[in-house]
Amino acid sequence: MIQIDGSNGGGQILRSALSLSMVTGQSFRMINIRGARRPKPGLMRQHLTCVKAATEISDAAVDGADLGSMELVFAPGKIKAGNYAFAIGTGGSTTLVFQTLLPALLQAEAPSTLRIEGGTHNPLAPPFEFIDQCFLPVLRRMGAKVSFELERPGFMQVGGGAITGTIHPIKKWKRLSLLDRGDLVRTWGTVLHAHLSPFIAEREQQTAISMMGWEPSIIAIQSADESPGPGSIVMLGATYEHVTEISSAVAQIGRNAESVGSSAAKGLSNYLGNDAAVGMHLTDQLLLPLALAGTGSFTTFAMSKHTHAQMDLIPKFLPVKFEIEEQEKGVRLVRVKKASA
Ligand code: ATP
Repeated sequence: MIQIDGSNGGGQILRSALSLSMVTGQSFRMINIRGARRPKPGLMRQHLTCVKAATEISDAAVDGADLGSMELVFAPGKIKAGNYAFAIGTGGSTTLVFQTLLPALLQAEAPSTLRIEGGTHNPLAPPFEFIDQCFLPVLRRMGAKVSFELERPGFMQVGGGAITGTIHPIKKWKRLSLLDRGDLVRTWGTVLHAHLSPFIAEREQQTAISMMGWEPSIIAIQSADESPGPGSIVMLGATYEHVTEISSAVAQIGRNAESVGSSAAKGLSNYLGNDAAVGMHLTDQLLLPLALAGTGSFTTFAMSKHTHAQMDLIPKFLPVKFEIEEQEKGVRLVRVKKASA
């Protein structure tokens, strides 16, 4: 049984362990789950939904699947294709649950459908558009056949949003080499808002426009009033020939609209000011698919704590190693290789 200590990280170590365990068939015991998220460590709703969904999909035997639990034993069985629906029960992130289950369902024997209810535009998680436009297009280049839709937006606290997807079994992972962005196709922005004063969205939009130095028409304000609860998110995007980056910031109680707009703008400016292909969040999210392919490379400029945590965890399950080569102007080349190579 693989032993994992989550003392230094958050939910991502658990989610990646679940994905890796399902695809490799190896059991794990994790202690100190979300140990770095004190004063609220352990399984929260979103993480517990991941555990329960993974248990159902892989017919697993599990111990410790309770709210607040800091220890979990997970022993997967065979992955079963099917039509699955999971509800987080709060505004917890649906996209993170989707990402956890995706590798397993790509390895099932038949196509599956997935519907997940909860938050679709959360702080500190990929918004729906990030999965749709940044993450999945790269996976499709690697051979994955996945469709992904936003049924209804949902924001933190109330939730009630829903995403759906259809996942076809992958025949063989293709090697990814994502070393440059290609030509810039367009820059764009969306302020999505629900049940809040229109002034909030306008102030978010104006701050982002002035910081980016863009024409006002580049950032659209879009109503998301189908969302059961209130919320707002600023998403700024740069679409290139080979890759798309989206920087986002979510409105939260106690945070003024200007700080939401400026945080999204800083993130995208940072990306535009660099040459590497892959931004900070996509960097940690691509390591697992690349490891499943057993080989691949990309350039990045941002090695976050999440990225290092992934690089420590993945080799516990798969015979791969990660190499990082420093290049010019802060660009780093990340290579995934077979451990014996
Ligand atoms: P906690 O930190 O409370 O345990 P968590 O379960 O949401 O929360 P993390 O371990 O922080 O988990 O992982 C968050 C994941 O979401 C990471 O893969 C990170 O790259 C991704 N992410 C965070 N913010 C964004 C964003 N704005 N855009 C895209 N991806 C994001």
